[in-house]
Amino acid sequence: MLPFKLVYSHDYYLPIGTHVFPAEKYRMIHDRLLETNVAEPADFHDPQPATDNDVLLVHTPDYVHKLKTGTLSGDEELQLEVPYSPELVRAFWLAAGGSIMAADFALQDGVGISIGGGFHHAFPDHGEGFCMIHDVAIAIRRMQKDGKIARAMTVDCDVHQGNGTAAIFGGGSYARRPLPSWSSAMFGMPVEEIAETRPQVKDVFTISLHQEHNYPAWKPPSSIDVDLPDGVGDDDYLAWLDNAVSSGLRQFEPDLICYVAGADPYREDQLGGLNLSIEGLKRRDELVFRVAREREIPVMITFAGGYARKVQDTVTIHCNTVIAAKEVFTRSAA
Ligand SMILES: [Zn+2]
Repeated sequence: MLPFKLVYSHDYYLPIGTHVFPAEKYRMIHDRLLETNVAEPADFHDPQPATDNDVLLVHTPDYVHKLKTGTLSGDEELQLEVPYSPELVRAFWLAAGGSIMAADFALQDGVGISIGGGFHHAFPDHGEGFCMIHDVAIAIRRMQKDGKIARAMTVDCDVHQGNGTAAIFGGGSYARRPLPSWSSAMFGMPVEEIAETRPQVKDVFTISLHQEHNYPAWKPPSSIDVDLPDGVGDDDYLAWLDNAVSSGLRQFEPDLICYVAGADPYREDQLGGLNLSIEGLKRRDELVFRVAREREIPVMITFAGGYARKVQDTVTIHCNTVIAAKEVFTRSAA
């Protein structure tokens, strides 16, 4: 048995037809984890869909109503970049329920992983970039509502900036204060100097490491944004991640870390322009888990994007996240 629980349902599959987003990856990850004896059937736990009230902790009543009644405008559906259907709504509600369950498990066991989720491009009033609703934000707000946590930190390592996360937790201050991010031009500048220009953090501290010259074009400021230049490889990436997480934890003490473990910083990714290896991505996961373990901060994990030319590579990268957690957290228990 794993020293933590996995959250998974066959219904995580997103009914979007032939698409650059490999919706079959969730089942493939589940199957690979079993075939390779990383996990056993009893490690997997079936989530319930989030309730509408859970979703409304983050999203506007107007947007939720449009989703439930199939009344998005043509432009809104276009911006979502996945074809709307009632079945797709159900899959996203289930993903949000899975993230709530993983957050609960993280608070009980120190770690909780949902083999899905990470839909970090969803905003309160609209979806975009394949993300209909923001499962991680919903899980954080639900944990807060239930009085289980007060403060959370997101560590987003998807190759694309967590614009929805920044918009949701930035409290709207981004609209009044357009601010610079860490950019390649700032490499070498002291972290604290840059961090001072961020919007004021409330109860959720957001960290995003991403490729600067990539979607989304407009990047509302996170608490810490690391805008990486094209082609960054393993060592530079890991140094920046270490720097950003250390800086974040000097400024803020979270009760829960929500790690968005995107597979798309991979060098073979079709929608990414960074140059990480599969091994480098596993070291990335280990770095986050070691920090969480050392500081005894519970960590919940979601998988977000991954568009490798070979879908098997995406599956390997996501399975390695589970393996990295197993290695780091088994050691800590021993
Ligand atoms: Zn992505």
